[in-house]
Amino acid sequence: MLTSQKQLVRKTPVTTATFTLQRVLSGKTLKRWRKQHNLTAHALAIELGISRQYVKSIEGGSLEASQKVIQRFDELRARWGEGDAREPSPQTIHVVCRFELPNTIEILAKPQRCKGCKKFFIPITPNQKMHNSEQCRRTARRRKDNAKRK
Ligand SMILES: [Zn+2]
Repeated sequence: MLTSQKQLVRKTPVTTATFTLQRVLSGKTLKRWRKQHNLTAHALAIELGISRQYVKSIEGGSLEASQKVIQRFDELRARWGEGDAREPSPQTIHVVCRFELPNTIEILAKPQRCKGCKKFFIPITPNQKMHNSEQCRRTARRRKDNAKRK
């Protein structure tokens, strides 16, 4: 029997989880910064205390920059008069889960505020403005109607 996604969401019990946010340094950002500062991969590697191969792998996207490398990158920029080297305190977020989540997840979409219940959610499609729930849709419609009447 086919079960629609909507039914699945409704039937799955809601739990909450707390996640610690980790910083990400994209290869593109690192490469752009290196080029802007006329550094070779080798020179940047020395500044960061890592191997040239690691710099190349981060830039190419085959390896992720470790938290330690990100911190060293902050320190390097601070030494060069850009930004702050202070380690940002780890941020935690509380997440309402409708599915069991693995220990590590990467959130790529920007959280949106639901036009219905006004809570934050991660949209599945770029244009999703509210939760996929009848209640949120109704609340959003009522809010829109009220705004029109004013
Ligand atoms: Zn909602």
